[in-house]
Amino acid sequence: MTDKDSGFEPDHNVSHFAVGKEPIITIEDLNKWFGDFHALKNINLQVAERERVVICGPSGSGKSTLIRCINHLDVFQKGRIVVDGNELTNVARNVDAIRAEVGMVFQQFNLFPHLTVLQNCMLAPMRVRGKSKAEASQTAMKFLERVRIPEQASKYPAELSGGQQQRVAIARALCMSPKIMLFDEPTSALDPEMVREVLDTMVALADEGMTMLCVTHEMGFARSVADRVIFMTAGEIVVDTPPLEFFDSPDNPRLREFLGQIL
Ligand code: ADP
Ligand code: MG
Repeated sequence: MTDKDSGFEPDHNVSHFAVGKEPIITIEDLNKWFGDFHALKNINLQVAERERVVICGPSGSGKSTLIRCINHLDVFQKGRIVVDGNELTNVARNVDAIRAEVGMVFQQFNLFPHLTVLQNCMLAPMRVRGKSKAEASQTAMKFLERVRIPEQASKYPAELSGGQQQRVAIARALCMSPKIMLFDEPTSALDPEMVREVLDTMVALADEGMTMLCVTHEMGFARSVADRVIFMTAGEIVVDTPPLEFFDSPDNPRLREFLGQIL
């Protein structure tokens, strides 16, 4: 998809990196191996509050692994991750503290099939946050309205389109009042006509000031929404730059080749 197709207007006037402010995510010298395979190599990354960072790169370059390390869905062997002042360790209490602040949306929606849309959104606030049924239901409806599918509340996931399911997944994450949202290729499993409705939801979230880390190859979204675009290959961050430079004057040959393939 080109910029023109996406219809998003680039907005380069606003820098959301709050200078002098403590980053909400700090990743230092992160290394991860799967057995002998070195999946993440010396990753250094800081994300400021309200910043929107897009991560792209070829399949197998470590994008999902990086995102998953941030909320401890994958463990790492070396380096540090600090989220909003909490250092990620293997201590369960610490993992819970970080997960409480980080919402995650996956390629495959991952909704509970045996629960209705509303129940999907109410479950974690009740179980994890101890919210009452009434309160959880009220919050769930608020976010289902926000993603523009309140009328689907009593349906089961299988009765919804892929785009609607993904918007439920976003609403479900938002019900936990996360400070940070992680997206891992949220539109890759969708039919083309549903991509836009999910991207619109993500753009609205960005406009509200949500701190976002998005793995996506939707370059129209990256160009118009991202403060920075990161390019990974073979477990390394090789480019980390504002979108204008990323797209208009990429000086890394591997990035040029990648952009040539997807644009
Ligand atoms: P991306 O999201 O960029 O496509 P991933 O982070 O999923 O890449 O994977 C990075 C590399 O790590 C790939 O080579 C993949 O095969 C490998 N990998 C991912 N998960 C596992 C796993 N659970 N066990 C072994 N290797 C894995
Ligand atoms: Mg992936």
